[in-house]
Amino acid sequence: MGSYKHSVSLNPDKCLGCTHCLKHCSTEAIRIRNKRAVIDPARCIDCGECIRVCPHHAKKAVSDKLSDIPKDKFKIALPAPSLYGQFSNLEDIDYVLKGLLDYGFDDVYEVARAAEIVSDYTRREMKKVEKPVISSACPVIARLLSLRYPLLADKLLTLLPPMELAAKEAKAQARKKHPELKEDDIVTVFISPCPAKVSYVKNKTGENKSYVDYVVSMSDVYFELLNVMKPEIGEAPVSKTGMIGLGWASTGGEATAIFNEKYLAADGIDNVVRVLEEIDNGSFPELEFVELNACPGGCVGGVMTVVNPYIAKARISNLKRYLPVSGNHAPDGDDVPDDVKEKLEFEYIPVTLGSGFGDAIKIMQERERLKKMLPGIDCGSCGSPTCAAFAQDVANGVSDISECIVFMREELEKLHKTDDGE
Ligand code: SF4
Ligand code: SF4
Repeated sequence: MGSYKHSVSLNPDKCLGCTHCLKHCSTEAIRIRNKRAVIDPARCIDCGECIRVCPHHAKKAVSDKLSDIPKDKFKIALPAPSLYGQFSNLEDIDYVLKGLLDYGFDDVYEVARAAEIVSDYTRREMKKVEKPVISSACPVIARLLSLRYPLLADKLLTLLPPMELAAKEAKAQARKKHPELKEDDIVTVFISPCPAKVSYVKNKTGENKSYVDYVVSMSDVYFELLNVMKPEIGEAPVSKTGMIGLGWASTGGEATAIFNEKYLAADGIDNVVRVLEEIDNGSFPELEFVELNACPGGCVGGVMTVVNPYIAKARISNLKRYLPVSGNHAPDGDDVPDDVKEKLEFEYIPVTLGSGFGDAIKIMQERERLKKMLPGIDCGSCGSPTCAAFAQDVANGVSDISECIVFMREELEKLHKTDDGE
C-alpha cells in the first residue's frame, strides 16, 4: 500500500495549520506538524473533503492536464454525466458533446451510456449474490472499507464502474470504425468530477490496468468548452443516453435504476461513515442495495466540478425530461461476462500497533493509560484530530504528551499548588 498513488496533495506554503481539515478527515489521516498539515498516505482515501473545507486553498486535487494528451493520437472524450449540470441554460446535451469535438477530441463516448449498461448488469448480479450489495462505483468506498470495515468487503459489487466500461466500449467502437488504428493510437480521456477517480485509474496496474488513459479535471474542461460551444448544434444528434444514465450524476440515480425498493442511498463522507457503521453492526437487515457517494449530492458534488451540486442536480433533472428511460442495454442473457467484472484488489490496511503481538498489547495499554490522562475535549491544538488519536500518536512515539496544552496547563497548576504548600 506504500506505493498507492494519491491525487490529493498539500501546498505547505499556503497552509496555516488552522486545523479545519484535521477535524473533517473521516479516516484521521491528517496531523498538524510544525504548524502545517501532513497527510498520512496509508490512511488517506482521496475523498477530497480536506480540499472542500480548507479556507486557504492549501489542498488540491492532482489530475492530468489537457496539454498532457498527445495531439497525434485518436482522442476519445469520456464525459461524466455530472459535466452536463455545470452549464446554465443548457437545453440539449449535444451542445456539450459537439463542443468536445470542436475542442479537438476525435470522438466522444458518454459515461452515462455505460452507466445504463452497468445498471442492467447490476440487476442481473442482484439475483445471484447475497444481500445487501454495496455499490463500488464511488472509488472512495472500496478504500474506506479496506481501512475501516474489512468485514463488509465481500458485499462490494464486483462490476466495472461506468467510467471504466465507457473507456472499454469506446476503444472497441473506435477500432471497429477505424480499423487502420492500432491499439496504441487510441487514447481515452475521462472528464472527472473528483480526485478519487484519478486515484482509481492511476492505481490500476499490470493485468488490471485501466481502460482510461488520462483523467482530466471537469473544471479545466468546463472553461475550455465555454470558449468553443456554439449557439447552433446542427441536425445530427450525438447523445445516445437516457434518463437512467444522467441520473447517475447525483445520489439515488444508481440505486433507483435497479428497480428494487429495498435500497439506501447516502452521500457526504460523514453520512457514508454513519451508514457503514450501522451496516457493520448488523442494522438494516432488510436492505438489498446500498449506494454510497463520498461527495455531497453524489458526483455533482465532486471537488473538481464548478457549480453548487444542488444547482447541477436541478439542471440535470431538467435535461432528463425529454429523454427515453434508457438508451443503452447490456447484451441479452442472464449472465455478467467476466470482462465487465471488477477485479477488486482489496487489501485490509489495519492501523499498525507495533511490530509484534507483544508490542501491540503494550501500545494499546499505553494508549488507554494516556487517554485517561487527556482532557477528552478533542480541541485539535495538539495536532491530532481527537484526544484518542493523540493518545495513539503518543503511544506510537510520533507525538509527545507535552504537545497537549490543556494537559500541560493542568500539570503546571498542580506544580504551583504543590509549591504553595496546598
Ligand atoms: S484546512 Fe488544513 S490545509 Fe488548509 S490551512 Fe488549515 S491546516 Fe492547512
Ligand atoms: S482526501 Fe479525505 S481521507 Fe485524504 S486527507 Fe483529505 S479528508 Fe482525509
